[in-house]
Amino acid sequence: MKETYTCAGCGVPVQTEDKQALGYVPKSALNRDVIICQRCFRLKHYNEIPDVSLSDDDFLKLLSQIGQTDALVVKIVDIFDFNGSWVPGLQRFVGQNDILLVGNKVDLLPKSTNQNKLKNWMRHSAKELGLRPIDVLLMSAEKSIGISEVANAIERYSDGRDVYIVGSTNVGKSTFINQLIKHFGDDEGITITTSQFPGTTLNFIDIPLNEDQTLYDTPGVVNQHQAAHFISPDDYKKVFPKKEIKPKVFQLNEEQTLFLGGLARFDYISGGRRSVVCYVSNEMYIHRTKSENADQLFESQYGKLLSPPSDPKGLPELRRYDFTVKENDMDIVFSGLGWVTVKGTGAKIQAYAPEGIGVLIRPSII
Ligand code: GDP
Repeated sequence: MKETYTCAGCGVPVQTEDKQALGYVPKSALNRDVIICQRCFRLKHYNEIPDVSLSDDDFLKLLSQIGQTDALVVKIVDIFDFNGSWVPGLQRFVGQNDILLVGNKVDLLPKSTNQNKLKNWMRHSAKELGLRPIDVLLMSAEKSIGISEVANAIERYSDGRDVYIVGSTNVGKSTFINQLIKHFGDDEGITITTSQFPGTTLNFIDIPLNEDQTLYDTPGVVNQHQAAHFISPDDYKKVFPKKEIKPKVFQLNEEQTLFLGGLARFDYISGGRRSVVCYVSNEMYIHRTKSENADQLFESQYGKLLSPPSDPKGLPELRRYDFTVKENDMDIVFSGLGWVTVKGTGAKIQAYAPEGIGVLIRPSII
């Protein structure tokens, strides 16, 4: 009989045929004592984000299975890529279960961020996306900010029920789970096991919280709208901030354009001279030009001066979104890339990003 192995990192059965699919391991690595799939390996050692496919079918089964249990669902989103890291349809599939919404990576935002405004915006956006969380919390799994609050909320809201952690890939779910293990673990440590998810090839990672309660880590779901899927891993490292964002202020005249690399374009159409503030990765190149020259510049410099992307091949075309800023200080958000705060009111903006990357407007969170 053929022996089957599972990945020591994420618990999925390993396979040696399909590099793009879940659980891929090169044949040579099967002889090792501890087998970990390529995805876990790369994440751990190179900080890379390889795409793995999780079929929608398996994902829907996973969600509806949660819906048949009485549990607390903890949904993790990346606050820097809120829309891109959103797992759609959750409320519909998890039935009556309570959902706790947790925004991760708060360490990336400037210290002056108003966390209450941010949470209100998350609550509001969640509602628009069909989800009514029982509570909204912020944390940084990596910098250990807000972990106790989240852990306490999980204890409180789960009220003795099992807990499922869901999120799309790259929101920081593994980092968070490791923190939780530290928080809930006692001196003797806790034994993490995996359980086969019925009817699919997926495994849950089971972490006992106490004798009666288990926390399940579910596989990360690939969301095709995530900025990470549009660009190469090298570009992604430039685009995605690694530390606190330093705001960059521009005084714009009407008919001036800012390019965020070649990945986003912000045209200031009308509203008089005013300041805008860019909140993007400190390594992102911002280029200012007259709007009348912007098309031609983009055509000749896309992937060159206007980079990232270093290689625009295969990237969706830029799509335009029109906004009129009617309230004071609004953010034009390019999901996963950052945002531009438009100071004051009465400005007309045209914003562009590759089709699939969400572009939206919200009250300024700073
Ligand atoms: P998963 O795919 O959801 O399990 O995500 P990981 O835990 O592997 O994290 C994905 C990436 O986000 C890694 O590069 C982490 O270092 C990074 N990350 C996770 N949590 C945080 C955080 O709180 N702040 C920041 N700045 N980065 C984080």
